[in-house]
Amino acid sequence: MTLHPTHNLSVEELDRQSVFHPFTALAQHNESGPRIMVSGSGVRLKDRAGREYIDALAGLWCVNIGYGRTEIAEAVDRQLRELPYYHSFASMGTEPAAHVADRLKRMLPGEMGRVFFGLSGSDANDTQVKLVWYYNNLLGRPRKKKIIARKRAYHGVTVAAASLTGLPVLHNAFDLPIDRILHTVTPHHYWNAEPGMSEEDFARHCAAELDALIEREGPDTVAAFIAEPVMGAGGVIVPPKGYFQEIQKVLKKHDVLMIADEVICGFGRLGRMFGCEVFGIEPDMVTVAKGITSGYVPLSASVVSEKMWQVLMEESRTLGVFGHGYTYTAHPVSCAAAMANLDILEGEKLADRAAETGAYMQTLLRETFEGQPAIGEVRGIGLIAAVELVADPAARTPFDPALKVAGRVAARALDNGLITRALPNGDSLAFSPPLVISRADVEACVERLAASIAGVRDELI
Ligand code: PLP
Repeated sequence: MTLHPTHNLSVEELDRQSVFHPFTALAQHNESGPRIMVSGSGVRLKDRAGREYIDALAGLWCVNIGYGRTEIAEAVDRQLRELPYYHSFASMGTEPAAHVADRLKRMLPGEMGRVFFGLSGSDANDTQVKLVWYYNNLLGRPRKKKIIARKRAYHGVTVAAASLTGLPVLHNAFDLPIDRILHTVTPHHYWNAEPGMSEEDFARHCAAELDALIEREGPDTVAAFIAEPVMGAGGVIVPPKGYFQEIQKVLKKHDVLMIADEVICGFGRLGRMFGCEVFGIEPDMVTVAKGITSGYVPLSASVVSEKMWQVLMEESRTLGVFGHGYTYTAHPVSCAAAMANLDILEGEKLADRAAETGAYMQTLLRETFEGQPAIGEVRGIGLIAAVELVADPAARTPFDPALKVAGRVAARALDNGLITRALPNGDSLAFSPPLVISRADVEACVERLAASIAGVRDELI
């Protein structure tokens, strides 16, 4: 092998000169370079300089079982030796794919029909969009195609998934969203409810807004509604009481499909296996990714109800082959990893553990931060939470975005050995640790966040 001359450069320098980083301030990165992680165990990560961090975000909300579980490595190793790759086009298949699909169908609430595998949450949501369009064409409803998402939702970055996402940073200068994708109100009581409005009234208000949007567009043109049970990247927004019940009444009235995006909430994060169970969501389609393999290898799935499946199957007799799929759909190595991951999640009852540790984390966060200077709202459920900073809590005045308050807190937290994340839109810091986190580590996370917030507060005041 010929060594490239740049190989006497540091890894940081190689990265800086060559890697195009996602969701990164490109010019700033070009000056400052990367932070390279080298190993992980449980909830802890180490970087190349030997610094240790508690990863309070589980990577990108995905390492549910924690780092360093050798069971996954062993399952992947076995599958790589046995059959590293085979596809699932044209009726071919592999053993791990059949097992994961069957297991997922049995785990999910409702009567699910079939599981279509992808590699990321984004591609799985893209598949959902295509399936919604395909399904309505098969039903002879070519006008019923619009899909409604929510402002601040996060559904991914591919052309269709980024269009579903309701965050300007994913649309600006990308010529998105595409047509036939609309956004309704964010169910965030703190910011969007009128003063004195109860959660239940606000839920009804959100449903009325959705109803009005569907009426304006024409119910015969609206095909589906997509929602994360708890909005993740858009701010960790827990819906107000009764929200999904009210929303589902509207969807039923207009014959609109419900797509549950369980990419973050699925596999235990909210203290139940799926977010749909927590909020009484009855989905027609479910998107999963992240926690299905705890991020160890890529895998996602677009799951359709038995009712939809029957239409897709019957109509294929006249339409012919289903023209969609990836080289890596149902990748056997990813599916083997998923089986080992689900064994751990179910065997160690990690959803129950998330409920218990999560309740502790929610209480501790509220006790520590509520009523403190510059704290707007502390919110969350199970092992997902956000602390939102505002300039004036009494008047609910946000900070000037140019101050990048949350970004500064996140940077200080890194220096304090804590990985959290400043979310786009407002100044919120997110917690979404591995489900195996201990109470002692929850306490360490909260202490480190408090110190980081106090540091930034001192700078600002
Ligand atoms: N849906 C939700 C709810 C997500 O949080 C994400 C990613 O964070 C996605 C979809 C997109 O997944 P991916 O980054 O794997 O494409």
